[in-house]
Amino acid sequence: MNEGAKPAWADIPSVDRLLHEPALTALIATHGRTATVAALRQVLKDLRRGLAEASQAVPEALDETAIAARAAEALDRLFQPSLRPVLNLTGTVLHTNLGRAPLPDEAIAAIADVARGASNLEFDLDSGRRGDRDSHAEALICRLTGAEAATVVNNNAAAVLLVLNTLAQRRRVPVSRGELIEIGGAFRMPDIMARAGCTLVEVGTTNRTHLKDYAEAIDKRTGMVMKVHRSNFAIQGFTAEVEEAALAKLAHDRGIPFAVDLGSGTLVDLERFGLPHEPTPGETLAGGADLVTFSTDKLLGGPQGGVIAGRRDLIAQLKRNPLKRAMRCDKLTIAALEAVLRLYLDPDRLAERLPVLRHLARAEADIAAQAQRLCPQVAERLDGVATVEAVACHSQIGSGSMPVHSLPSAALSLRPAPTGRKVSDAALSRLAAALRRLPLPIVGRVADGAVLLDLRCMDDEVAFLDQVQALPMLLRR
Ligand SMILES: *Cc1c(COP(=O)(O)O)cnc(C)c1O
Repeated sequence: MNEGAKPAWADIPSVDRLLHEPALTALIATHGRTATVAALRQVLKDLRRGLAEASQAVPEALDETAIAARAAEALDRLFQPSLRPVLNLTGTVLHTNLGRAPLPDEAIAAIADVARGASNLEFDLDSGRRGDRDSHAEALICRLTGAEAATVVNNNAAAVLLVLNTLAQRRRVPVSRGELIEIGGAFRMPDIMARAGCTLVEVGTTNRTHLKDYAEAIDKRTGMVMKVHRSNFAIQGFTAEVEEAALAKLAHDRGIPFAVDLGSGTLVDLERFGLPHEPTPGETLAGGADLVTFSTDKLLGGPQGGVIAGRRDLIAQLKRNPLKRAMRCDKLTIAALEAVLRLYLDPDRLAERLPVLRHLARAEADIAAQAQRLCPQVAERLDGVATVEAVACHSQIGSGSMPVHSLPSAALSLRPAPTGRKVSDAALSRLAAALRRLPLPIVGRVADGAVLLDLRCMDDEVAFLDQVQALPMLLRR
Protein backbone atom coordinates (compact mmCIF):
# COMPACT_ATOMS: atom_id res chain seq x y z
CA MET A 1 0.00 0.00 0.00
CA ASN A 2 1.30 3.48 -0.83
CA GLU A 3 2.31 5.84 1.95
CA GLY A 4 -0.65 7.98 2.95
CA ALA A 5 -3.12 6.21 0.64
CA LYS A 6 -6.34 5.21 2.32
CA PRO A 7 -6.76 1.45 2.86
CA ALA A 8 -8.30 -0.35 -0.12
CA TRP A 9 -11.15 -1.83 1.93
CA ALA A 10 -12.38 1.62 2.82
CA ASP A 11 -13.92 1.60 -0.66
CA ILE A 12 -15.86 -1.59 -0.09
CA PRO A 13 -19.52 -0.62 -0.04
CA SER A 14 -21.57 -1.41 3.07
CA VAL A 15 -24.22 -4.13 3.17
CA ASP A 16 -26.88 -1.50 3.80
CA ARG A 17 -25.94 0.52 0.77
CA LEU A 18 -25.77 -2.59 -1.41
CA LEU A 19 -29.21 -3.76 -0.33
CA HIS A 20 -30.72 -0.80 -2.14
CA GLU A 21 -29.23 -1.87 -5.47
CA PRO A 22 -32.01 -3.05 -7.81
CA ALA A 23 -30.10 -6.28 -8.52
CA LEU A 24 -30.12 -7.09 -4.81
CA THR A 25 -33.77 -6.20 -4.34
CA ALA A 26 -34.46 -8.79 -7.03
CA LEU A 27 -32.32 -11.38 -5.23
CA ILE A 28 -34.22 -10.74 -1.99
CA ALA A 29 -37.52 -11.23 -3.82
CA THR A 30 -36.31 -14.61 -5.10
CA HIS A 31 -34.30 -16.03 -2.22
CA GLY A 32 -35.40 -14.05 0.83
CA ARG A 33 -33.60 -11.45 2.90
CA THR A 34 -31.74 -13.76 5.28
CA ALA A 35 -29.97 -15.78 2.60
CA THR A 36 -29.26 -12.71 0.45
CA VAL A 37 -27.68 -10.75 3.31
CA ALA A 38 -25.62 -13.80 4.30
CA ALA A 39 -24.41 -14.24 0.71
CA LEU A 40 -23.54 -10.55 0.50
CA ARG A 41 -21.59 -10.63 3.78
CA GLN A 42 -19.63 -13.62 2.52
CA VAL A 43 -18.77 -11.87 -0.76
CA LEU A 44 -17.59 -8.77 1.14
CA LYS A 45 -15.58 -10.87 3.59
CA ASP A 46 -13.84 -12.64 0.69
CA LEU A 47 -13.13 -9.27 -0.91
CA ARG A 48 -11.56 -7.91 2.28
CA ARG A 49 -9.43 -10.98 2.67
CA GLY A 50 -8.34 -10.75 -0.97
CA LEU A 51 -7.39 -7.13 -0.53
CA ALA A 52 -5.49 -7.78 2.70
CA GLU A 53 -3.51 -10.56 1.10
CA ALA A 54 -2.74 -8.74 -2.13
CA SER A 55 -2.53 -5.28 -0.46
CA GLN A 56 -3.26 -3.68 -3.77
CA ALA A 57 -5.45 -0.92 -5.10
CA VAL A 58 -9.21 -1.33 -5.35
CA PRO A 59 -9.98 -3.85 -8.09
CA GLU A 60 -13.01 -3.69 -10.36
CA ALA A 61 -14.51 -6.39 -8.16
CA LEU A 62 -15.53 -3.61 -5.77
CA ASP A 63 -18.02 -2.34 -8.26
CA GLU A 64 -21.56 -2.74 -6.89
CA THR A 65 -22.86 -4.63 -9.91
CA ALA A 66 -19.92 -7.03 -9.71
CA ILE A 67 -20.61 -7.66 -6.01
CA ALA A 68 -24.29 -8.28 -6.73
CA ALA A 69 -23.36 -10.74 -9.50
CA ARG A 70 -21.10 -12.67 -7.15
CA ALA A 71 -23.83 -12.83 -4.51
CA ALA A 72 -26.30 -14.04 -7.16
CA GLU A 73 -23.92 -16.84 -8.17
CA ALA A 74 -23.49 -17.91 -4.55
CA LEU A 75 -27.26 -17.90 -4.04
CA ASP A 76 -27.84 -19.95 -7.20
CA ARG A 77 -25.41 -22.56 -5.90
CA LEU A 78 -27.09 -22.57 -2.49
CA PHE A 79 -30.60 -23.00 -3.84
CA GLN A 80 -29.82 -25.55 -6.52
CA PRO A 81 -30.94 -28.98 -5.29
CA SER A 82 -28.01 -31.29 -4.69
CA LEU A 83 -30.03 -34.34 -5.72
CA ARG A 84 -31.44 -33.70 -9.17
CA PRO A 85 -32.35 -35.41 -12.42
CA VAL A 86 -29.70 -36.39 -14.96
CA LEU A 87 -29.94 -38.03 -18.38
CA ASN A 88 -28.60 -41.57 -18.10
CA LEU A 89 -26.91 -42.20 -21.44
CA THR A 90 -24.27 -44.51 -19.93
CA GLY A 91 -25.75 -47.60 -21.52
CA THR A 92 -26.22 -49.17 -18.09
CA VAL A 93 -29.98 -49.35 -17.68
CA LEU A 94 -30.07 -50.09 -13.95
CA HIS A 95 -27.28 -47.77 -12.84
CA THR A 96 -26.98 -47.90 -9.05
CA ASN A 97 -25.11 -44.58 -8.87
CA LEU A 98 -27.79 -42.95 -11.03
CA GLY A 99 -30.68 -44.17 -8.91
CA ARG A 100 -31.51 -47.48 -10.62
CA ALA A 101 -35.08 -47.87 -11.91
CA PRO A 102 -36.99 -44.86 -13.28
CA LEU A 103 -40.53 -45.05 -11.92
CA PRO A 104 -43.67 -45.32 -14.04
CA ASP A 105 -46.18 -42.43 -13.96
CA GLU A 106 -48.57 -44.56 -11.90
CA ALA A 107 -45.98 -44.82 -9.11
CA ILE A 108 -45.11 -41.12 -9.25
CA ALA A 109 -48.80 -40.21 -8.94
CA ALA A 110 -49.19 -42.62 -6.01
CA ILE A 111 -46.22 -41.02 -4.21
CA ALA A 112 -47.63 -37.52 -4.71
CA ASP A 113 -51.08 -38.59 -3.49
CA VAL A 114 -49.78 -40.05 -0.28
CA ALA A 115 -47.10 -37.40 0.33
CA ARG A 116 -49.56 -34.53 0.47
CA GLY A 117 -51.48 -35.55 3.55
CA ALA A 118 -52.54 -38.26 5.92
CA SER A 119 -53.00 -41.84 4.72
CA ASN A 120 -54.08 -45.24 6.06
CA LEU A 121 -50.44 -46.32 6.29
CA GLU A 122 -50.96 -48.31 9.49
CA PHE A 123 -54.67 -47.88 9.93
CA ASP A 124 -57.30 -50.46 9.11
CA LEU A 125 -60.19 -48.56 7.55
CA ASP A 126 -62.62 -51.47 8.10
CA SER A 127 -62.14 -51.87 11.83
CA GLY A 128 -60.84 -48.39 12.63
CA ARG A 129 -57.94 -50.03 14.47
CA ARG A 130 -54.23 -50.07 14.02
CA GLY A 131 -53.17 -51.73 10.77
CA ASP A 132 -49.99 -53.12 9.24
CA ARG A 133 -47.94 -51.13 6.72
CA ASP A 134 -47.06 -54.38 4.94
CA SER A 135 -50.72 -54.98 4.15
CA HIS A 136 -50.65 -52.64 1.14
CA ALA A 137 -48.13 -54.57 -0.93
CA GLU A 138 -48.30 -58.01 0.67
CA ALA A 139 -51.37 -59.37 -1.11
CA LEU A 140 -49.98 -58.28 -4.49
CA ILE A 141 -46.58 -59.84 -3.78
CA CYS A 142 -48.25 -63.08 -2.74
CA ARG A 143 -50.40 -63.11 -5.85
CA LEU A 144 -47.41 -62.46 -8.12
CA THR A 145 -45.03 -64.94 -6.45
CA GLY A 146 -47.31 -67.60 -5.01
CA ALA A 147 -45.93 -66.88 -1.52
CA GLU A 148 -48.08 -67.36 1.59
CA ALA A 149 -46.86 -64.09 3.11
CA ALA A 150 -44.38 -61.29 2.53
CA THR A 151 -42.78 -58.27 4.14
CA VAL A 152 -40.94 -55.28 2.70
CA VAL A 153 -37.82 -53.49 4.01
CA ASN A 154 -35.60 -50.68 2.73
CA ASN A 155 -33.44 -52.70 0.35
CA ASN A 156 -32.44 -56.25 -0.39
CA ALA A 157 -29.30 -55.99 1.73
CA ALA A 158 -31.59 -55.32 4.71
CA ALA A 159 -33.83 -58.22 3.65
CA VAL A 160 -30.88 -60.64 3.71
CA LEU A 161 -29.66 -59.27 7.04
CA LEU A 162 -33.12 -59.63 8.59
CA VAL A 163 -33.52 -63.22 7.39
CA LEU A 164 -30.11 -64.27 8.70
CA ASN A 165 -30.49 -62.51 12.03
CA THR A 166 -34.00 -63.85 12.62
CA LEU A 167 -33.48 -67.46 11.59
CA ALA A 168 -29.83 -68.10 12.40
CA GLN A 169 -28.47 -65.73 15.06
CA ARG A 170 -25.70 -67.51 17.02
CA ARG A 171 -26.03 -70.41 14.61
CA ARG A 172 -24.22 -71.65 11.54
CA VAL A 173 -25.16 -71.04 7.93
CA PRO A 174 -23.57 -73.09 5.15
CA VAL A 175 -23.02 -71.18 1.89
CA SER A 176 -21.23 -72.36 -1.25
CA ARG A 177 -17.76 -70.89 -1.81
CA GLY A 178 -18.96 -70.04 -5.32
CA GLU A 179 -21.64 -67.72 -3.91
CA LEU A 180 -19.73 -65.56 -1.42
CA ILE A 181 -20.50 -62.47 -3.41
CA GLU A 182 -19.66 -58.83 -3.08
CA ILE A 183 -22.23 -56.42 -4.49
CA GLY A 184 -21.09 -52.86 -5.20
CA GLY A 185 -21.11 -50.53 -2.21
CA ALA A 186 -19.65 -52.89 0.40
CA PHE A 187 -22.34 -55.56 0.54
CA ARG A 188 -20.25 -58.68 1.13
CA MET A 189 -21.97 -61.87 2.09
CA PRO A 190 -19.37 -62.88 4.75
CA ASP A 191 -19.60 -59.43 6.40
CA ILE A 192 -23.40 -59.45 6.38
CA MET A 193 -23.33 -62.89 8.00
CA ALA A 194 -21.05 -61.64 10.76
CA ARG A 195 -23.19 -58.56 11.39
CA ALA A 196 -26.30 -60.73 11.49
CA GLY A 197 -24.65 -62.73 14.27
CA CYS A 198 -24.29 -65.88 12.18
CA THR A 199 -21.29 -68.09 11.62
CA LEU A 200 -20.61 -68.61 7.96
CA VAL A 201 -19.69 -72.16 7.04
CA GLU A 202 -18.07 -72.22 3.61
CA VAL A 203 -18.86 -75.35 1.64
CA GLY A 204 -17.59 -76.73 -1.66
CA THR A 205 -15.07 -74.91 -3.83
CA THR A 206 -15.21 -71.78 -5.97
CA ASN A 207 -16.26 -73.65 -9.10
CA ARG A 208 -17.94 -76.81 -7.77
CA THR A 209 -20.22 -77.45 -4.84
CA HIS A 210 -22.07 -80.74 -4.34
CA LEU A 211 -25.04 -81.82 -2.22
CA LYS A 212 -22.77 -83.89 0.01
CA ASP A 213 -20.73 -80.75 0.83
CA TYR A 214 -23.86 -79.23 2.34
CA ALA A 215 -24.92 -82.53 3.96
CA GLU A 216 -21.56 -82.83 5.74
CA ALA A 217 -21.66 -79.20 6.88
CA ILE A 218 -25.09 -79.41 8.53
CA ASP A 219 -25.21 -80.36 12.21
CA LYS A 220 -27.27 -79.38 15.24
CA ARG A 221 -25.68 -75.91 15.32
CA THR A 222 -26.91 -75.08 11.81
CA GLY A 223 -29.69 -72.47 11.67
CA MET A 224 -30.57 -72.48 7.99
CA VAL A 225 -29.23 -73.19 4.52
CA MET A 226 -28.76 -70.27 2.17
CA LYS A 227 -28.27 -70.02 -1.56
CA VAL A 228 -27.16 -66.75 -3.12
CA HIS A 229 -27.85 -65.94 -6.76
CA ARG A 230 -24.57 -65.02 -8.44
CA SER A 231 -26.00 -61.91 -9.91
CA ASN A 232 -22.97 -59.84 -10.82
CA PHE A 233 -20.53 -62.44 -12.05
CA ALA A 234 -20.52 -65.77 -13.83
CA ILE A 235 -18.59 -68.97 -13.29
CA GLN A 236 -17.91 -70.86 -16.48
CA GLY A 237 -16.14 -74.08 -17.41
CA PHE A 238 -15.84 -77.03 -15.01
CA THR A 239 -18.63 -76.09 -12.65
CA ALA A 240 -21.27 -77.70 -10.47
CA GLU A 241 -23.90 -76.34 -8.18
CA VAL A 242 -26.74 -77.93 -6.31
CA GLU A 243 -30.29 -77.62 -7.61
CA GLU A 244 -32.55 -75.63 -5.33
CA ALA A 245 -35.03 -78.50 -5.02
CA ALA A 246 -32.32 -80.86 -3.76
CA LEU A 247 -31.03 -78.28 -1.31
CA ALA A 248 -34.56 -77.61 -0.08
CA LYS A 249 -35.14 -81.32 0.52
CA LEU A 250 -31.86 -81.66 2.41
CA ALA A 251 -32.65 -78.67 4.63
CA HIS A 252 -36.17 -79.92 5.33
CA ASP A 253 -34.94 -83.46 6.12
CA ARG A 254 -32.69 -81.88 8.74
CA GLY A 255 -35.49 -79.68 10.05
CA ILE A 256 -34.06 -76.28 9.06
CA PRO A 257 -35.31 -73.61 6.64
CA PHE A 258 -33.87 -72.95 3.22
CA ALA A 259 -33.64 -69.35 1.92
CA VAL A 260 -32.58 -68.03 -1.48
CA ASP A 261 -31.24 -64.52 -2.07
CA LEU A 262 -32.21 -63.81 -5.68
CA GLY A 263 -30.90 -60.24 -5.88
CA SER A 264 -32.79 -59.04 -8.93
CA GLY A 265 -35.89 -61.13 -8.79
CA THR A 266 -37.96 -60.23 -11.79
CA LEU A 267 -41.65 -61.04 -11.45
CA VAL A 268 -42.15 -62.05 -15.08
CA ASP A 269 -40.45 -64.39 -17.48
CA LEU A 270 -37.98 -62.03 -19.18
CA GLU A 271 -37.85 -64.24 -22.28
CA ARG A 272 -41.17 -62.68 -23.21
CA PHE A 273 -39.21 -59.48 -23.79
CA GLY A 274 -36.33 -61.04 -25.67
CA LEU A 275 -34.07 -61.15 -22.61
CA PRO A 276 -32.38 -64.17 -21.07
CA HIS A 277 -34.28 -66.08 -18.43
CA GLU A 278 -33.75 -64.92 -14.87
CA PRO A 279 -35.12 -67.02 -11.99
CA THR A 280 -38.31 -65.53 -10.57
CA PRO A 281 -39.30 -65.56 -6.88
CA GLY A 282 -42.31 -67.68 -7.91
CA GLU A 283 -40.13 -70.37 -9.47
CA THR A 284 -37.77 -70.34 -6.51
CA LEU A 285 -40.58 -70.77 -4.00
CA ALA A 286 -42.18 -73.47 -6.14
CA GLY A 287 -38.77 -75.20 -6.17
CA GLY A 288 -38.95 -75.59 -2.40
CA ALA A 289 -37.38 -72.45 -0.92
CA ASP A 290 -38.99 -71.38 2.36
CA LEU A 291 -38.03 -67.75 1.86
CA VAL A 292 -36.81 -65.70 -1.06
CA THR A 293 -35.31 -62.18 -0.96
CA PHE A 294 -35.07 -59.70 -3.84
CA SER A 295 -34.68 -56.00 -4.65
CA THR A 296 -37.63 -53.93 -5.80
CA ASP A 297 -35.52 -51.39 -7.74
CA LYS A 298 -33.60 -53.74 -9.98
CA LEU A 299 -35.42 -55.74 -12.68
CA LEU A 300 -38.72 -55.31 -10.84
CA GLY A 301 -38.53 -51.64 -11.82
CA GLY A 302 -39.85 -50.02 -8.64
CA PRO A 303 -38.61 -47.82 -5.79
CA GLN A 304 -35.68 -48.86 -3.61
CA GLY A 305 -36.78 -51.73 -1.40
CA GLY A 306 -36.27 -55.36 -0.49
CA VAL A 307 -38.93 -58.06 -0.37
CA ILE A 308 -38.89 -61.21 1.72
CA ALA A 309 -41.57 -63.66 0.59
CA GLY A 310 -42.43 -67.22 1.54
CA ARG A 311 -43.69 -69.28 4.48
CA ARG A 312 -46.23 -67.54 6.68
CA ASP A 313 -44.75 -68.69 10.00
CA LEU A 314 -41.26 -67.50 9.04
CA ILE A 315 -42.52 -64.12 7.80
CA ALA A 316 -44.36 -63.70 11.12
CA GLN A 317 -41.08 -64.43 12.92
CA LEU A 318 -39.26 -61.81 10.82
CA LYS A 319 -41.91 -59.22 11.64
CA ARG A 320 -41.39 -59.77 15.36
CA ASN A 321 -37.66 -59.04 15.11
CA PRO A 322 -36.96 -55.50 16.41
CA LEU A 323 -34.59 -55.05 13.46
CA LYS A 324 -37.64 -55.10 11.19
CA ARG A 325 -38.80 -51.88 12.85
CA ALA A 326 -35.43 -50.30 12.07
CA MET A 327 -35.63 -51.40 8.44
CA ARG A 328 -39.23 -50.56 7.66
CA CYS A 329 -40.07 -48.63 4.48
CA ASP A 330 -41.65 -45.21 4.50
CA LYS A 331 -45.09 -44.49 3.05
CA LEU A 332 -43.71 -43.05 -0.21
CA THR A 333 -41.88 -46.27 -1.00
CA ILE A 334 -44.91 -48.35 -0.15
CA ALA A 335 -47.15 -46.18 -2.35
CA ALA A 336 -44.78 -46.49 -5.30
CA LEU A 337 -44.20 -50.21 -4.83
CA GLU A 338 -47.89 -50.96 -4.65
CA ALA A 339 -48.49 -49.03 -7.90
CA VAL A 340 -45.64 -50.80 -9.69
CA LEU A 341 -46.78 -54.24 -8.51
CA ARG A 342 -50.27 -53.52 -9.78
CA LEU A 343 -48.86 -52.97 -13.29
CA TYR A 344 -47.73 -56.61 -13.20
CA LEU A 345 -51.36 -57.71 -13.07
CA ASP A 346 -51.47 -56.83 -16.77
CA PRO A 347 -48.24 -58.36 -18.13
CA ASP A 348 -49.25 -57.74 -21.76
CA ARG A 349 -48.86 -53.98 -21.34
CA LEU A 350 -45.91 -54.12 -18.96
CA ALA A 351 -43.25 -53.32 -21.58
CA GLU A 352 -45.06 -50.08 -22.45
CA ARG A 353 -45.83 -48.99 -18.91
CA LEU A 354 -42.78 -49.97 -16.89
CA PRO A 355 -39.78 -47.82 -17.91
CA VAL A 356 -37.13 -50.40 -16.99
CA LEU A 357 -38.71 -53.05 -19.16
CA ARG A 358 -39.37 -50.55 -21.92
CA HIS A 359 -35.68 -49.63 -21.95
CA LEU A 360 -34.48 -53.22 -21.73
CA ALA A 361 -36.86 -54.44 -24.41
CA ARG A 362 -36.16 -51.68 -26.94
CA ALA A 363 -35.24 -53.09 -30.34
CA GLU A 364 -31.77 -52.29 -31.66
CA ALA A 365 -33.31 -50.98 -34.91
CA ASP A 366 -35.46 -48.52 -32.98
CA ILE A 367 -32.46 -47.14 -31.09
CA ALA A 368 -30.37 -47.00 -34.27
CA ALA A 369 -33.11 -45.01 -36.02
CA GLN A 370 -33.18 -42.60 -33.10
CA ALA A 371 -29.41 -42.18 -33.35
CA GLN A 372 -29.67 -41.44 -37.10
CA ARG A 373 -32.42 -38.92 -36.46
CA LEU A 374 -30.64 -37.12 -33.63
CA CYS A 375 -27.16 -37.14 -35.16
CA PRO A 376 -27.51 -34.18 -37.56
CA GLN A 377 -29.43 -32.15 -34.97
CA VAL A 378 -26.72 -32.66 -32.37
CA ALA A 379 -23.97 -32.05 -34.93
CA GLU A 380 -25.54 -28.72 -35.86
CA ARG A 381 -25.66 -27.63 -32.23
CA LEU A 382 -22.06 -28.70 -31.58
CA ASP A 383 -20.64 -27.23 -34.76
CA GLY A 384 -17.05 -26.21 -34.09
CA VAL A 385 -16.76 -27.86 -30.65
CA ALA A 386 -17.31 -31.55 -31.37
CA THR A 387 -17.94 -33.94 -34.21
CA VAL A 388 -20.86 -36.34 -33.95
CA GLU A 389 -21.39 -39.79 -35.39
CA ALA A 390 -24.11 -42.43 -34.96
CA VAL A 391 -22.46 -45.72 -33.97
CA ALA A 392 -23.44 -49.21 -32.85
CA CYS A 393 -22.66 -50.13 -29.24
CA HIS A 394 -23.68 -52.44 -26.43
CA SER A 395 -25.74 -51.58 -23.36
CA GLN A 396 -25.85 -53.60 -20.20
CA ILE A 397 -28.61 -54.31 -17.73
CA GLY A 398 -26.65 -53.20 -14.69
CA SER A 399 -27.06 -53.50 -10.92
CA GLY A 400 -25.40 -56.87 -11.11
CA SER A 401 -28.15 -58.35 -13.24
CA MET A 402 -26.96 -60.74 -15.91
CA PRO A 403 -23.39 -59.44 -16.15
CA VAL A 404 -22.38 -61.46 -19.19
CA HIS A 405 -25.39 -60.49 -21.23
CA SER A 406 -25.10 -57.30 -23.27
CA LEU A 407 -27.80 -55.68 -25.37
CA PRO A 408 -27.04 -54.40 -28.89
CA SER A 409 -27.74 -50.67 -28.96
CA ALA A 410 -26.82 -47.41 -30.69
CA ALA A 411 -25.06 -44.27 -29.51
CA LEU A 412 -24.01 -40.82 -30.53
CA SER A 413 -20.23 -40.71 -30.49
CA LEU A 414 -18.90 -37.25 -29.64
CA ARG A 415 -15.29 -36.28 -30.34
CA PRO A 416 -13.87 -32.91 -29.41
CA ALA A 417 -13.10 -30.87 -32.54
CA PRO A 418 -10.92 -30.43 -34.53
CA THR A 419 -11.32 -33.59 -36.59
CA GLY A 420 -8.59 -35.71 -38.07
CA ARG A 421 -6.18 -35.28 -35.21
CA LYS A 422 -5.86 -37.76 -32.39
CA VAL A 423 -8.12 -36.77 -29.50
CA SER A 424 -6.27 -36.22 -26.25
CA ASP A 425 -7.55 -37.75 -23.02
CA ALA A 426 -7.67 -34.27 -21.51
CA ALA A 427 -9.95 -33.00 -24.30
CA LEU A 428 -12.24 -36.01 -23.83
CA SER A 429 -12.45 -35.51 -20.08
CA ARG A 430 -13.21 -31.83 -20.65
CA LEU A 431 -16.08 -32.74 -22.99
CA ALA A 432 -17.48 -35.35 -20.58
CA ALA A 433 -17.17 -32.86 -17.70
CA ALA A 434 -18.97 -30.12 -19.65
CA LEU A 435 -21.83 -32.56 -20.36
CA ARG A 436 -22.08 -33.20 -16.62
CA ARG A 437 -22.18 -29.46 -15.87
CA LEU A 438 -25.30 -28.85 -17.96
CA PRO A 439 -28.43 -27.77 -16.06
CA LEU A 440 -29.80 -31.25 -16.79
CA PRO A 441 -26.50 -33.15 -16.64
CA ILE A 442 -25.84 -35.69 -19.40
CA VAL A 443 -23.89 -38.73 -18.23
CA GLY A 444 -22.31 -40.81 -20.97
CA ARG A 445 -19.25 -43.05 -21.04
CA VAL A 446 -15.80 -42.55 -22.47
CA ALA A 447 -14.76 -45.33 -24.84
CA ASP A 448 -12.56 -45.63 -27.92
CA GLY A 449 -11.43 -42.02 -27.86
CA ALA A 450 -14.96 -40.61 -27.78
CA VAL A 451 -17.76 -39.75 -25.40
CA LEU A 452 -20.48 -42.29 -26.15
CA LEU A 453 -24.09 -41.34 -25.47
CA ASP A 454 -26.01 -44.62 -25.54
CA LEU A 455 -29.59 -43.81 -26.52
CA ARG A 456 -31.29 -46.89 -25.04
CA CYS A 457 -32.70 -44.88 -22.10
CA MET A 458 -33.37 -41.68 -24.07
CA ASP A 459 -37.00 -40.77 -23.40
CA ASP A 460 -37.01 -37.01 -23.83
CA GLU A 461 -35.36 -35.88 -27.05
CA VAL A 462 -36.52 -32.28 -26.64
CA ALA A 463 -34.88 -31.92 -23.23
CA PHE A 464 -31.75 -33.60 -24.58
CA LEU A 465 -31.44 -31.26 -27.57
CA ASP A 466 -32.04 -28.25 -25.32
CA GLN A 467 -29.12 -29.29 -23.15
CA VAL A 468 -26.86 -29.97 -26.13
CA GLN A 469 -27.60 -26.45 -27.34
CA ALA A 470 -26.03 -25.05 -24.16
CA LEU A 471 -22.89 -27.18 -24.40
CA PRO A 472 -20.67 -24.96 -26.63
CA MET A 473 -20.96 -22.11 -24.12
CA LEU A 474 -19.79 -24.36 -21.28
CA LEU A 475 -16.89 -25.67 -23.35
CA ARG A 476 -15.65 -22.23 -24.26
CA ARG A 477 -15.57 -21.10 -20.64
C1 LIG B 1 -28.25 -56.44 -5.50
C2 LIG B 1 -28.13 -57.61 -4.62
C3 LIG B 1 -28.19 -57.48 -3.23
C4 LIG B 1 -28.36 -56.13 -2.58
O1 LIG B 1 -29.60 -55.59 -2.91
P1 LIG B 1 -29.89 -54.01 -2.66
O2 LIG B 1 -31.32 -53.87 -3.00
O3 LIG B 1 -28.96 -53.29 -3.54
O4 LIG B 1 -29.61 -53.76 -1.21
C5 LIG B 1 -28.10 -58.61 -2.46
N1 LIG B 1 -27.93 -59.83 -3.02
C6 LIG B 1 -27.85 -60.00 -4.36
C7 LIG B 1 -27.67 -61.39 -4.91
C8 LIG B 1 -27.95 -58.91 -5.21
O5 LIG B 1 -27.88 -59.06 -6.53
